[in-house]
Amino acid sequence: MIQAAFLVAPRRVEFRTVPSPIPGPGEVAVRVRAALTDGTDLKAFRRGHPKMPMPTRFGHEFSGDVAAVGPGVANFVVGDAIMAVHSAPCGRCHWCRAEQENLCATIMETKILGAYAEQILLSRPIVERNTFSKPASLSYEAAAFLEPLACVVHGVSLLAPREGDLAVVIGAGGFGLLHVILLRALGVRVAVIGRGAARLEMARALGAEWGREVTLDRRTLSEARALVEEITDGRGADRVIECTGQVDGWLAGLALVRRGGTVSLFGGPPPRSTVPIDTSRLHYDQISVVSPFHFRPRDVRRAYELLAGGGVDVTPLISGRSELHELARVFERLEHGEGVKFAVLP
Ligand SMILES: [Zn+2]
Ligand SMILES: [Zn+2]
Repeated sequence: MIQAAFLVAPRRVEFRTVPSPIPGPGEVAVRVRAALTDGTDLKAFRRGHPKMPMPTRFGHEFSGDVAAVGPGVANFVVGDAIMAVHSAPCGRCHWCRAEQENLCATIMETKILGAYAEQILLSRPIVERNTFSKPASLSYEAAAFLEPLACVVHGVSLLAPREGDLAVVIGAGGFGLLHVILLRALGVRVAVIGRGAARLEMARALGAEWGREVTLDRRTLSEARALVEEITDGRGADRVIECTGQVDGWLAGLALVRRGGTVSLFGGPPPRSTVPIDTSRLHYDQISVVSPFHFRPRDVRRAYELLAGGGVDVTPLISGRSELHELARVFERLEHGEGVKFAVLP
C-alpha cells in the first residue's frame, strides 16, 4: 500500500492509502523521490480543473527510483534512479507523423497524474520514449525539472533566438525564470518584466541584465514600451517571451518586440479570451508570432541532456522542500506569492 494525495475539493487535499501500482506490460512503477509544484497544480488546487474531476490525484513533475517493472521492460530494472515526463505521443496519428508530437491526438488524455504520492505508474509510451536514467550527479529535485524544462526547450526552439539577441521575458514565475536560465545558456541577453521584487532579484541573479517590476495593463503598456526602448536604442526587443498567459501580457508582447522580431506566446490564456491585434504592426513591421504548446520527445531529450550534462542549473528555482502531508500548506505559500517552485519529498 502507498500514500497518495487526492484533491477532493478546491483547497482541500486528503491523503489516502491506496494499493501500490502493479505495472502491466511495458509499464514501470516509480517510487517518487521528488515532485515539484507547478502553476497547473496550483490552479487545480485553487479552483479545480475541468480536465481533472475531483477527487483526483495530482502532481506531474517528478523523479524517483524504479519500484517495479512490468513484463517486457528491458531498459530499466528495480532500483534504477530515473527521470521522466508525464506524457508521451502515440506515434501513429496525423500530428505524430507530421513531427508535431506535442499536438498528438491522444497526448492530453493519456497523460498520467499523481506525482504527489509515494509511487506513480508510468505508461508504456512514456517508458519507451520519455524516461531516462538519472545520473548520480543530478539531484532528484533537479531531475524533476525535466517536464517544465522540456516545455521551455520546445518554446525556445520555435522562438529561434540568435546569440547576442535581446530577449524580453514577460512574467517572473517558474516558466519565466526557466526561460532566463535557458536563454542565458544560449548566449542570449535577457531582460525581465514581472511582479514580485524577490523573483525579479532572482532573474538578475540568473543572468538577466535588467529586471523591472511592472504590473502590466493597458495603462502601463506605454511605460513598459519606454523601458524596453531605453535599452534597445528605441528599436524594441529582438525576441519577446510572454509567460503570464494573460491578455494584457499578449498585448505587451506584441507591443515590445522590434520590427522583424519574434514573439513567443508561451503562457496559455483563459479559455475563449480574444486579443485585438494591430494588423499593420503584424504585417508592415513583420512581427512573427509563435505559440508553443507542450513538447515533443526531441525536446524532452534535449532537456535531459541539458540537466544531465550540467548545461543548465535549475536548483536556484527550488524555493523550499516539504513532506507530502504539508502539500496544502505549500500551495498556500505559493498563493501568497512566496517562492517559485517547491520540492515535495514523499
Ligand atoms: Zn499521436
Ligand atoms: Zn509542469
